[in-house]
Amino acid sequence: MPKQLTILSGKGGTGKTTVAASFFHMADSAVAADCDVDAPNLHLVLQPREIESGSFMGSSAAFIDSEKCSRCGICEEECPFGAIRDCEVLPLYCEGCGVCELVCPEGAAKLKAVVTGHTYVSETPCGILVHALLKPGSEATGKLVTEVRKKAVEIAEEKSLDIVIIDGSPGIGCPVIASISGADFVLAVTEPTKSGFWGFERICGVAKHFGVEIAACINKSDINPGIADEMKEYARREGVQILGEIPFDDEVNHATMGGKVLTEFYDGPASREIRELWKETRLLLMTEAKR
Ligand code: SF4
Ligand code: SF4
Repeated sequence: MPKQLTILSGKGGTGKTTVAASFFHMADSAVAADCDVDAPNLHLVLQPREIESGSFMGSSAAFIDSEKCSRCGICEEECPFGAIRDCEVLPLYCEGCGVCELVCPEGAAKLKAVVTGHTYVSETPCGILVHALLKPGSEATGKLVTEVRKKAVEIAEEKSLDIVIIDGSPGIGCPVIASISGADFVLAVTEPTKSGFWGFERICGVAKHFGVEIAACINKSDINPGIADEMKEYARREGVQILGEIPFDDEVNHATMGGKVLTEFYDGPASREIRELWKETRLLLMTEAKR
């Protein structure tokens, strides 16, 4: 089984994807999975060439067969979401609960799976990338994350690759839980701001809840040394190792704006620190992580 490394941040904009893309560039035996399915951006720096795509059916919605419908109105009365009017389903309001299907005496109301997103497998100069895009306004993000991870693990197994690098969603909601559960190791990428610290605490809590080993790095560690020290003290109390402190470096912005992987094209202070961070993370992932 390949080892699964999940890279998370409790909030957006901490540099998580910069770290994930750089790790993918340096790993010689890995598949990448972009599990930020609401707003994927790993592909923006990896120049992907799509080799496979598929529809993702993440939820259900009701449909009424007008030829079978007797227009009795029972479904409209019973629908808990007010999603049926004049024997027609209002798709925006339908929650796919199935009540109309249960109460329809004619078998005219039926639930059908609906496409809520797409999955992609792409070749990149760093290796295979599995990614996805959820349709705007669609739910079931966690299911799509699970789908992306499953596909990435399958590919790693088929190709006998050692590591699946998972770029998780920001925050701590359902997609983050889907990114963490069953992973071997979590690296939290955080930054020394109030909101960064808050997100870091939350990620530590979720990882501990799911019994997954966690370590962290502090990005732009020199922009606010006071909060960085508080974070290190918190990490020490919680038994979370700080594997690296990445200094602020303009090259990171240049790489992101230019659609480039930092460690592939730059050799400044941030790039060098991320190289060291990869060595530390890889060592812990391969030797200390569970399973
Ligand atoms: S599936 Fe539920 S929400 Fe949708 S139309 Fe039927 S009863 Fe209403
Ligand atoms: S319950 Fe069935 S038959 Fe009656 S209005 Fe709804 S869809 Fe038509």
